[in-house]
Amino acid sequence: MIVKIVSKNFDIPDSHKLDVALKNGRYESIDKLFSMTPEDVTEEVCKSGLRGKGGGGAACGPKWKLMPPVDERPRYLIANGDESEPGTFKDRQIFEYDPHLLIEGIICSSYAIGAHDCFIYIRGEYKFFIDRLNAAIEEAYEAGIIGDKIMNKYDYRMNITVHRGGGAYICGEKSALIESIEGKRGHPRLKPHGKECEWFFGDPATVNNVETIASVPNIVLNGYESYTKYGTEKAPGTMLFAMSGPVNNPGVYELAYGNKMTDVIEKIGGGMKNGLKLKAVIPGGASCPILTAEEVEKAYLDYESMWDIGSTLGTGGMMIIPEGVSMVEVAKNLIEFYHHESCGQCTPCREGCGWIDTIIHKILEGKGSSEDLNTILDVCGTMNGKTVCVFAPAVKDIIQSIVEKYAHEFETYFKKENK
Ligand code: SF4
Repeated sequence: MIVKIVSKNFDIPDSHKLDVALKNGRYESIDKLFSMTPEDVTEEVCKSGLRGKGGGGAACGPKWKLMPPVDERPRYLIANGDESEPGTFKDRQIFEYDPHLLIEGIICSSYAIGAHDCFIYIRGEYKFFIDRLNAAIEEAYEAGIIGDKIMNKYDYRMNITVHRGGGAYICGEKSALIESIEGKRGHPRLKPHGKECEWFFGDPATVNNVETIASVPNIVLNGYESYTKYGTEKAPGTMLFAMSGPVNNPGVYELAYGNKMTDVIEKIGGGMKNGLKLKAVIPGGASCPILTAEEVEKAYLDYESMWDIGSTLGTGGMMIIPEGVSMVEVAKNLIEFYHHESCGQCTPCREGCGWIDTIIHKILEGKGSSEDLNTILDVCGTMNGKTVCVFAPAVKDIIQSIVEKYAHEFETYFKKENK
């Protein structure tokens, strides 16, 4: 069930240090990389079916192909390590235990898209991981792995810069992230989705999640079949799945796509702690529609299977919720977070989050009525598909799913009013 590709070196003592990393296979893909053309590398990644691990699951190779032909303009790779989605804590494992895998992946991915400069955007609170990553980058420069040449021999300039975020959740959205690095407010841009590359200071750029980039060296070194032999037909390979909540073994595990969620909770997570009963799972970070215990029984951990049961795989960060937890309190915690983190440029999002936040607090105070639930669902409808970015539809997804599936719990608070 556990397949270690990205996490292969995580358990090796001092795996973050260059000498240990080199002894354990890091940078072995580079010779093969430079025996290939950038187009060959992109084709190999296309054939591997590698999908983005940051939440959307977009295919990585086709995304690289959105870059325009190489010309005199600078081109950039941007590694998204913002990782602010509640319940998601996988990229930081790479920063902590194998930063050289990320650097190797950056070299491979940059070569494929013709970029010579990479910015790693990392969550501001990740001070420990930022220091560790910077130390690894410094080691790589000193050893001549990056800089004016790659591995002291390949005539390809590669510079890597770490950019520390300022703490805004929305800067995990790729265009807001770019605005942030450009020194502006982290507001998402209006963009033709999936039709063209990103633009960084007006020049072409690709934004990939850290784990996605870290998955590339294996594909370059061992070929696409080494990846497609795991997972499902539409979601080949592996993903770092995080499990939090009252299970016996919470943590981050690299698994092939397509495992049954209950098997993962039981066999990997060690089952529920202290005889607690599973009530629900938010499957892939806080913004994925919640699954009831009955739905969890039917859930498989790949994109298409999750869509089939009305949720999404997201970042693979499973939040396990036991019986006894109030779903109204869960909804309150989530909407407080989203209300705080809305960037505010779209009225349906800015006002919608505020309204829902106010209404849920009113319900918790015993002053609500069934009319309030209708209002929440009505506001959710207004937030869907009418905003600059997917933040508002994601808030709609999680709040609407909780209200629809656990309306009876909200009603117990209405009853307080009538006592
Ligand atoms: S949907 Fe929300 S977070 Fe996204 S741009 Fe609009 S206001 Fe900002």
